[in-house]
Amino acid sequence: MTTERCKVQQREYNAKYRKNHPEKCKASDAKYYQANREKVLARNNGWFIANPDRHKAYESIRRHKDRGFIVNLTTDQLEAIMVAIPNCQQCGIEFSNPRFKTVDRINDATVMDARTIQIICWRCNIRNYWEQKRRRNT
Ligand SMILES: [Zn+2]
Repeated sequence: MTTERCKVQQREYNAKYRKNHPEKCKASDAKYYQANREKVLARNNGWFIANPDRHKAYESIRRHKDRGFIVNLTTDQLEAIMVAIPNCQQCGIEFSNPRFKTVDRINDATVMDARTIQIICWRCNIRNYWEQKRRRNT
Protein backbone atom coordinates (compact mmCIF):
# COMPACT_ATOMS: atom_id res chain seq x y z
CA MET A 1 0.00 0.00 0.00
CA THR A 2 2.73 2.42 1.02
CA THR A 3 4.80 1.63 -2.05
CA GLU A 4 1.77 2.32 -4.24
CA ARG A 5 1.29 5.73 -2.66
CA CYS A 6 4.99 6.48 -3.07
CA LYS A 7 4.77 5.63 -6.77
CA VAL A 8 1.90 8.08 -7.23
CA GLN A 9 3.78 10.77 -5.31
CA GLN A 10 6.85 10.13 -7.40
CA ARG A 11 4.81 10.44 -10.60
CA GLU A 12 3.29 13.73 -9.41
CA TYR A 13 6.72 15.01 -8.45
CA ASN A 14 8.10 14.04 -11.87
CA ALA A 15 5.23 15.75 -13.69
CA LYS A 16 5.74 18.93 -11.66
CA TYR A 17 9.49 18.81 -12.25
CA ARG A 18 9.00 18.41 -16.01
CA LYS A 19 6.65 21.40 -16.05
CA ASN A 20 9.07 23.62 -14.15
CA HIS A 21 12.23 22.54 -16.00
CA PRO A 22 11.19 22.02 -19.64
CA GLU A 23 14.64 22.81 -21.08
CA LYS A 24 16.45 20.47 -18.71
CA CYS A 25 13.99 17.67 -19.49
CA LYS A 26 14.18 18.28 -23.22
CA ALA A 27 17.97 17.91 -23.06
CA SER A 28 17.86 14.76 -20.96
CA ASP A 29 15.11 13.26 -23.16
CA ALA A 30 17.27 13.90 -26.22
CA LYS A 31 20.23 12.30 -24.48
CA TYR A 32 18.13 9.27 -23.54
CA TYR A 33 16.89 8.99 -27.13
CA GLN A 34 20.45 9.09 -28.49
CA ALA A 35 21.60 6.38 -26.10
CA ASN A 36 18.49 4.17 -26.44
CA ARG A 37 17.33 4.89 -29.96
CA GLU A 38 16.34 1.30 -30.79
CA LYS A 39 14.41 0.87 -27.56
CA VAL A 40 12.53 4.16 -27.97
CA LEU A 41 11.65 3.44 -31.59
CA ALA A 42 10.42 -0.05 -30.73
CA ARG A 43 8.26 1.35 -27.94
CA ASN A 44 6.88 4.06 -30.23
CA ASN A 45 6.19 1.48 -32.92
CA GLY A 46 4.17 -0.61 -30.47
CA TRP A 47 2.22 2.49 -29.54
CA PHE A 48 1.54 3.35 -33.20
CA ILE A 49 0.21 -0.14 -33.82
CA ALA A 50 -1.98 -0.05 -30.70
CA ASN A 51 -3.30 3.48 -31.43
CA PRO A 52 -3.58 3.77 -35.25
CA ASP A 53 -6.27 6.46 -35.29
CA ARG A 54 -4.48 8.64 -32.77
CA HIS A 55 -1.19 8.21 -34.59
CA LYS A 56 -2.82 9.17 -37.90
CA ALA A 57 -4.55 12.17 -36.33
CA TYR A 58 -1.34 13.40 -34.74
CA GLU A 59 0.73 12.92 -37.89
CA SER A 60 -1.86 14.54 -40.14
CA ILE A 61 -2.11 17.64 -37.95
CA ARG A 62 1.66 17.95 -37.67
CA ARG A 63 2.17 17.59 -41.44
CA HIS A 64 -0.57 20.08 -42.32
CA LYS A 65 0.84 22.63 -39.84
CA ASP A 66 4.32 22.13 -41.29
CA ARG A 67 2.92 22.85 -44.75
CA GLY A 68 1.39 26.13 -43.57
CA PHE A 69 -2.26 25.14 -43.23
CA ILE A 70 -4.42 26.57 -40.47
CA VAL A 71 -5.48 23.65 -38.31
CA ASN A 72 -8.53 24.26 -36.12
CA LEU A 73 -8.61 20.72 -34.77
CA THR A 74 -6.89 19.13 -31.81
CA THR A 75 -5.44 15.63 -32.00
CA ASP A 76 -8.30 14.49 -29.72
CA GLN A 77 -10.95 15.94 -32.04
CA LEU A 78 -9.42 14.51 -35.21
CA GLU A 79 -8.94 11.14 -33.54
CA ALA A 80 -12.63 11.13 -32.52
CA ILE A 81 -13.64 11.91 -36.12
CA MET A 82 -11.43 9.13 -37.47
CA VAL A 83 -12.68 6.57 -34.96
CA ALA A 84 -16.32 7.45 -35.79
CA ILE A 85 -15.91 6.87 -39.53
CA PRO A 86 -15.72 3.19 -40.48
CA ASN A 87 -16.08 3.65 -44.25
CA CYS A 88 -14.28 5.77 -46.83
CA GLN A 89 -16.34 8.93 -47.31
CA GLN A 90 -15.61 8.90 -51.02
CA CYS A 91 -15.93 5.32 -52.29
CA GLY A 92 -17.86 3.94 -49.29
CA ILE A 93 -15.66 0.90 -48.85
CA GLU A 94 -15.13 -0.12 -45.23
CA PHE A 95 -11.61 0.39 -43.89
CA SER A 96 -10.22 -3.09 -43.40
CA ASN A 97 -7.37 -1.53 -41.44
CA PRO A 98 -7.44 1.84 -39.64
CA ARG A 99 -4.04 2.55 -41.16
CA PHE A 100 -5.71 2.88 -44.58
CA LYS A 101 -7.54 6.02 -43.40
CA THR A 102 -6.28 9.33 -44.73
CA VAL A 103 -7.38 12.88 -44.02
CA ASP A 104 -8.50 14.73 -47.14
CA ARG A 105 -9.12 18.49 -47.32
CA ILE A 106 -12.34 19.01 -49.30
CA ASN A 107 -11.69 21.25 -52.33
CA ASP A 108 -8.12 21.81 -51.16
CA ALA A 109 -9.28 23.88 -48.19
CA THR A 110 -6.51 25.91 -46.56
CA VAL A 111 -8.20 25.77 -43.17
CA MET A 112 -8.56 22.36 -41.58
CA ASP A 113 -11.56 21.84 -39.31
CA ALA A 114 -14.35 19.31 -38.84
CA ARG A 115 -16.29 20.67 -41.87
CA THR A 116 -13.43 20.99 -44.36
CA ILE A 117 -12.07 17.47 -44.07
CA GLN A 118 -13.24 14.01 -44.96
CA ILE A 119 -11.76 10.66 -44.05
CA ILE A 120 -11.05 8.68 -47.18
CA CYS A 121 -9.04 5.61 -48.03
CA TRP A 122 -5.50 5.93 -49.38
CA ARG A 123 -6.66 4.66 -52.80
CA CYS A 124 -9.15 7.51 -53.17
CA ASN A 125 -6.56 9.96 -51.86
CA ILE A 126 -4.03 8.91 -54.50
CA ARG A 127 -6.70 8.95 -57.22
CA ASN A 128 -7.72 12.50 -56.20
CA TYR A 129 -4.11 13.59 -56.28
CA TRP A 130 -3.59 12.40 -59.86
CA GLU A 131 -6.92 13.73 -61.06
CA GLN A 132 -6.12 17.13 -59.62
CA LYS A 133 -2.71 17.08 -61.22
CA ARG A 134 -4.21 16.18 -64.57
CA ARG A 135 -6.85 18.93 -64.29
CA ARG A 136 -4.16 21.49 -63.54
CA ASN A 137 -2.18 20.47 -66.60
CA THR A 138 -5.08 20.78 -69.04
ZN1 LIG B 1 -12.13 5.29 -50.91
